[in-house]
Amino acid sequence: MKPVVVVGGGIVGACVAYQVARAGVPLVVIFRDGGVTARSFGWIGGTGGEWPGGAGALRPFVLADWRDLSAAVPGVQVRWSGSVTWPGGGVSGRDIARLEPHLRTFPTSSCCIPDDGSVDPAEVTRALLLAARELGARLVSGATVTAVHDGEVVSSAGRHPASTVVIAAGTGTSLLCPPVAVPASPAFLMRVRAPAGLVRTIVGTPAYDVREAAGGMLLATAPLGADRTWAGLRALAGRTVEELRAAFGPGLRLVDWTVGDRPMPPDGPVIGPVSPGVYVAVMHPGICLAPTAGRLVAQEITGGGPAPELVNCRPSRG
Ligand SMILES: Cc1cc2nc3c(=O)[nH]c(=O)nc-3n(C[C@H](O)[C@H](O)[C@H](O)COP(=O)(O)OP(=O)(O)OC[C@H]3O[C@@H](n4cnc5c(N)ncnc54)[C@H](O)[C@@H]3O)c2cc1C
Repeated sequence: MKPVVVVGGGIVGACVAYQVARAGVPLVVIFRDGGVTARSFGWIGGTGGEWPGGAGALRPFVLADWRDLSAAVPGVQVRWSGSVTWPGGGVSGRDIARLEPHLRTFPTSSCCIPDDGSVDPAEVTRALLLAARELGARLVSGATVTAVHDGEVVSSAGRHPASTVVIAAGTGTSLLCPPVAVPASPAFLMRVRAPAGLVRTIVGTPAYDVREAAGGMLLATAPLGADRTWAGLRALAGRTVEELRAAFGPGLRLVDWTVGDRPMPPDGPVIGPVSPGVYVAVMHPGICLAPTAGRLVAQEITGGGPAPELVNCRPSRG
């Protein structure tokens, strides 16, 4: 029996791979590297954020699917901290002070989502790929796929017969599957050293989002400006650290920063068959959606029938 071949070892490929392997179907996962997943902020939001196109229909399942994964797979850990964002309504300055006691300046009103959480996307992806391998999958890392056909994948590691190919290649999807347009949308991420426990939730503001990744290490994003030169990015990092110091105190130190290209299909997630033997799965916001998408993709390609939740994600939709 030919295996399912998943192209991509970012969060989406890893979630698909784990669920396909769990269904007992022979599987090969081929990927070049960790993709943009390794540069992600890792915010899991059930209610906040952007949910373009068919993402809206997947949104109600996001938190439950993350809970299920973290219960089932060692190494998949979610930090259920909740989030505080402003501007927004419903939560007073006093309540924010309780949630974020080290904040020095308070907005008059903000929005609190107690169910929100975050993950270390690279760590989770590794854990899922290892779990898939434990279940019998073969992992081919460091290989570049050059062609995808019905029934076969060609890579720098050789030719791989396939019952179904799932392309979960993020911004690399368009090259392997030209009908699916996946523009890259750059985003900025920085690491900042801080006293452990300084930031307790995920704090989202117009100038930055920030959360604690591990004891004493903050992750922060900031909106990218037009200047994408090294000097421009350095200046953005400096301004953002100053904003964070104004909010949380002086004991913060910039560690480094990076820019990652998010796969951003213009009309929302693209999930479904593009030909009888080739299936595509590319989406934004990928960290939020990957466990739900992975579960539904595996259901569809292992004989569990079409998932109505994916109806507005089809590559063939108008
Ligand atoms: C700064 C930043 C912050 C973000 N914050 C959030 C957030 O808070 N919440 C959220 O939900 N999302 C967030 N995102 C977006 C999220 O990171 C992405 O949506 C997600 O990681 C995409 O996962 P993916 O598996 O589709 O793609 P990728 O992680 O890019 O994985 C693609 C995989 O395909 C492989 N590949 C591609 N082409 C080939 C080829 N030809 N041959 C072999 N392998 C190939 C790559 O090597 C990689 O393994 C953020 C992104 C950035 C940059």
